[in-house]
Amino acid sequence: MPAIDIDPYRSSDGLFECVGCGSRTESASHPGTCPNCDSPVQNISVSRE
Ligand SMILES: [Zn+2]
Repeated sequence: MPAIDIDPYRSSDGLFECVGCGSRTESASHPGTCPNCDSPVQNISVSRE
């Protein structure tokens, strides 16, 4: 797996990043846990209007 840099990302939907493996999931609602490693995910989306 390539390293994933955290870069500014804006979306109307939420963007969630796994605290375990760093994979990102774009979802309108909190996915709960990472589908890959079952670790918690955090919302990293920046919605500034
Ligand atoms: Zn994960």
